[in-house]
Amino acid sequence: TTFSELGISHALIKGLKELGIITPSEIQVATIPTLVSMQTDFIGQAQTGTGKTAAFGLPILSNIDAQDQHVQALILSPTRELCQQIAKQLFKFTKYSDKVFVEAVFGGAKIDEQISRLRRPTQVIVATPGRLVDLLEKGAVNLKHVKTVVLDEADEMLSMGFKKELNKILDETAGDRNIWLFSATMSAPVKQIINTYLSQNAKKVE
Ligand code: AMP
Repeated sequence: TTFSELGISHALIKGLKELGIITPSEIQVATIPTLVSMQTDFIGQAQTGTGKTAAFGLPILSNIDAQDQHVQALILSPTRELCQQIAKQLFKFTKYSDKVFVEAVFGGAKIDEQISRLRRPTQVIVATPGRLVDLLEKGAVNLKHVKTVVLDEADEMLSMGFKKELNKILDETAGDRNIWLFSATMSAPVKQIINTYLSQNAKKVE
């Protein structure tokens, strides 16, 4: 299988090639065709190191409307390091594509600087749940135009105590957005999020 057969554009493929990403990994083959069409909630049981970031990142980038300056996709991840890694990968993937503005926001960094960066057009936010809630409470982000929410390492976020924040963020996004949940384990709190927020018809890949 090639990335082209999975529905990925020539421009993105060129960016991937430069990173040595030539052949789609197993999870990418299983996930990308479904997510590129966007019309579904999704549950993926996947570990890090499998190419998970590209599995959700390429479909997101394929569907960003570069003319629309609203936040269109939100990726939630448990730690600062993961947020930075995800944002960096997305930025590199788009080297030859339309400009997509990706901003990483996380705790432990100055919130005022994040607020002023978010005043610029931002189409994708990669965030830790606690900091994103702080930014929401300060009116620094608008999630009403978000079409896709990725919960990356959902089990980790929940075991770190971010349940309340995840609920608040998911409640803040419009009801017709899609949620793509990735988790290494399907713990009880993960199942609770799935039952509360994801459609009964959510696609599953293990
Ligand atoms: P991830 O699981 O998303 O953290 O990705 C782990 C590493 O694998 C990252 O450095 C990616 O750039 C790389 N990677 C992702 N997909 C592929 C692929 N299809 N072929 C080779 N490397 C990949």
